[in-house]
Amino acid sequence: MPLSAPDIGIDLGTSNTSVYVRNRGIVISEPTMVVVDRDNRQTVRAVGDEARFLYGRSPESLLAVSPLRNGQVADFDMTELMLKYFVRKAIGVNFIGRPRILVSVPCGLDDVKRKALTEAVRLAGAKHVFLIEKPFAGAIGTGLPVYDPLGSMVVDIGAGTTDVAVISLGGLVVSQSIPVGGDRMDETLMNYMKRECNIIVGKQTSENVKKDLASAVPLENPRNILVRGINQLNTSAGTIRFNSLQAYEAVREPCEAIIKAIRWVLERTPPELCADIMRSGLHLTGGGSLLFALDRFISERLNIPVLLARDPQDCCILGMGYLTENIQLVTP
Ligand code: ADP
Ligand code: MG
Repeated sequence: MPLSAPDIGIDLGTSNTSVYVRNRGIVISEPTMVVVDRDNRQTVRAVGDEARFLYGRSPESLLAVSPLRNGQVADFDMTELMLKYFVRKAIGVNFIGRPRILVSVPCGLDDVKRKALTEAVRLAGAKHVFLIEKPFAGAIGTGLPVYDPLGSMVVDIGAGTTDVAVISLGGLVVSQSIPVGGDRMDETLMNYMKRECNIIVGKQTSENVKKDLASAVPLENPRNILVRGINQLNTSAGTIRFNSLQAYEAVREPCEAIIKAIRWVLERTPPELCADIMRSGLHLTGGGSLLFALDRFISERLNIPVLLARDPQDCCILGMGYLTENIQLVTP
């Protein structure tokens, strides 16, 4: 006898998508990527982990698509196909009816984009769709008392966006989303290496340099690493020594943009809530917040206590999971 479909929570990130199934927990965490036939884009060849593996290794006839850009649906059809695959993989098909699905979104998404995403999730198999702002889910995931009459501040730094929010009594009081996150850091590093070192590197290499070497404040003991790429001058393979001071300079611009967004939100936060935040601190979630010393940088620049969440990349899906288990909190 088939059961009714369980409720599902999805953290739809620009780089990574996770799926939580009620009463089971997190069952999927895979890259937000689809590989399709170039000629017939309805033919899906791979999704998630398999798609990431094929990326850069696939023949001309295949096309790898990242359906989200800066936290928003950039390719509607591919988003739908990917979500359909993940939902099937998460719960199978042996159910009566369709599941209710909770999906994370950046703050301040306009109505047109909210409708488009809702429609994609519906076509992927949902009966009802509920959109949850990422910092709200992140705040729950890192254990903040979001339903209390207390101000909590969360800054979620993902791959495509940074979402800043002040939360109280179960809602966002002030929020802002900017299209700057880990991806932008990869880009500014790539551009820096091209401009200052005449070397062209791929996205994967610059992401590795970011994780291994870059920092939001200059390192006390500078280091350097070898970076392999293509020499811009003679288009041959080349290797350079890249040091931590250069890496720091390269990511300064996105770090400053994050400061600006936090300041914008703080300036619009009611004084009582500001006082709460000064006491309990600003909480960092999302994989981008793992940039070395970003917590110290924000704390020193804004003169505010900053706490980096444990496992920042998982906060959002953990919060989505909590809401999936307690779905009466989001259903009208
Ligand atoms: P999204 O939800 O947008 O998919 P995530 O919260 O999963 O994003 O975070 C992914 C981002 O975090 C990527 O840009 C990745 O490079 C970055 N990231 C992960 N680990 C680190 C690290 N140790 N240092 C700096 N950035 C990191
Ligand atoms: Mg995220």
